[in-house]
Amino acid sequence: MRVQINGNFLELKVGDITQDTADAIVNAANGSLMGGGGVDGAIHRAAGPGLLEECKKVRKEQLNGELLPTGKAVITQGYQLPAKFVIHTVGPVWYGGIKGEPLLLQDCYRHSLQLAENNGIKSITFPSISTGVYGYPVELAAGTALQAIVEFLREESFGTVAMMLFSENDFTRYQAALQKLMG
Ligand code: ADP
Repeated sequence: MRVQINGNFLELKVGDITQDTADAIVNAANGSLMGGGGVDGAIHRAAGPGLLEECKKVRKEQLNGELLPTGKAVITQGYQLPAKFVIHTVGPVWYGGIKGEPLLLQDCYRHSLQLAENNGIKSITFPSISTGVYGYPVELAAGTALQAIVEFLREESFGTVAMMLFSENDFTRYQAALQKLMG
């Protein structure tokens, strides 16, 4: 599914984000930036050891050894990935919606898109942030994620933003949310 917004494109796809040929892919990282399970592990495996080395450097030099806060984003090269860049963002853990999860999830998308734009990136692909191990219900995450992307594209001349869903079920949820948003 593909819609046009203010001269930009927003696409929903199904597949493995590590194979994606956008300028940048987004990693649903954890604050340590040291890799993990799910999409994070898949991206690190496909990118090769250079990615972890650069993540260690970012932790030390940009974050002064601290964790990357939830909702914030940093950028690295893509190493052995088809994508030139990886943008790492930390999604909120779902605590039932009482800990500001929607605003934090919006922040992930907004900050990733801003960072992409600042680096001259014209195409970017996101996974479904927080809806795996972090437990965010996919039908709620879909509306919040797509709203943040649509708001950004209405304001900016960016290019193409894609969501890479990892199952047909997730794709159906995001498709329904996008149809609702586009009226
Ligand atoms: P989080 O900790 O943010 O919940 P996860 O990696 O556990 O992150 O899950 C986020 C989403 O990424 C889930 O929908 C999961 O199915 C999906 N996912 C896992 N591997 C891949 C992959 N290779 N490509 C695209 N999406 C993936």
